Amino acid sequence: MKKLLNILACPVCKQPVELNKEHSKLLCTSCHQQYKIKDNVPRMLDEESEKEIKDYINSSDGQNMVKEYDKKGLFLKLYKTAVKITGGSNFHTPVKKRLQSIIDSTGENGFVLEIGSGNHRLDEKVINFDICHFKNVDVVGNGSKLPFQNESIHAIMLLAVLEHTRQPQKVIDECYRVLKKDGIIYAEVPFVFRYHSYPTDFWRFSLQGVDELFHKFSKQDVGVCVGPSSGLLTFLTHYATLFSFSNNFFINRLIKGLTFCFLFPLKYLDLLLVKNQRAHELAAGIYFMGEKK
Ligand SMILES: [Zn+2]
Repeated sequence: MKKLLNILACPVCKQPVELNKEHSKLLCTSCHQQYKIKDNVPRMLDEESEKEIKDYINSSDGQNMVKEYDKKGLFLKLYKTAVKITGGSNFHTPVKKRLQSIIDSTGENGFVLEIGSGNHRLDEKVINFDICHFKNVDVVGNGSKLPFQNESIHAIMLLAVLEHTRQPQKVIDECYRVLKKDGIIYAEVPFVFRYHSYPTDFWRFSLQGVDELFHKFSKQDVGVCVGPSSGLLTFLTHYATLFSFSNNFFINRLIKGLTFCFLFPLKYLDLLLVKNQRAHELAAGIYFMGEKK
C-alpha cells in the first residue's frame, strides 16, 4: 500500500490521495472525496461508477462472472481441469514471453498495471486492477476513470478487456495519461469471437480499428494473437449450448466441456494458419503494442 500511495490519485480530480489516521480510507487532497480500503485493497470508485458496476454485477451475466471467478461447484472444477489439460480453447501465439519481457523491461521499481485482471496474476510485480474485488486484485476501480497520477506507470496490459468497457477510447486515453513518456501499452482484443459478458460485452475490433484506437501511441507491433481455428472452435462449442434452450450456467458449461473434449484438436490448425498474411480477416484475437512518445 505504501508503494501504491506514491501513484494513486482521486479518480474524479486526478489529484493525490492520502491515508486517514485509521488507515481505513483514502482521502483526496483536493476535492476531499473518500475511498474505502478493504483487506488492504483501495476501492477507488466514484458514486457514478459504484452504481454502474453494482447494476452490472447484479445482472445474470454479472453473477455468472462472479461464479466463474470464484471457482466453486463441481462442473466448474471439471471444466477448469479440462481447460488445464487441453490448454484452453485458444491456440495463443506466444504472448507469455512478450508480456514477461515488457514486465522485465520496466526495471526493479517500475510500475506495471493490468487493467481488468480478474483473479489471475501475471507476475508479482504487476498491479492488478479490476471493477470487482476478486482474489489477487490490488486496486478496485473503473478503467475509464483510472485512479493513478499523470505519467506514473511504466507499462499497461489490457488483455481481453476493452470489449467489456462502454467507452474503449476513454480507457485508452486514460492509459495514455497515466503512462510515463516511453511507457509501453500492450492490448489484446477480440475480432471474430462469440459474445462473452464479463459482465458486459460491447465491441469487436479489426486490425484497422485497433490502429485507430491507439493512434496516440507510436506503434511497435500489431498482429494476430488468437487465430481463426481457435475462433471456430469457440463458435462450435458455444453453438452446441444453444440446443439446451437454457440459461443455466452449469448445464451450458457441461455441454461446452463435452463438445470441447471432441473438438479441441481443431485449434492446432492455427499453428499453420497464423502464418497466413490474411489470418487477421478471421482472427479470433488481435494484439497491439505501442509506446507513449
Ligand atoms: Zn479528488
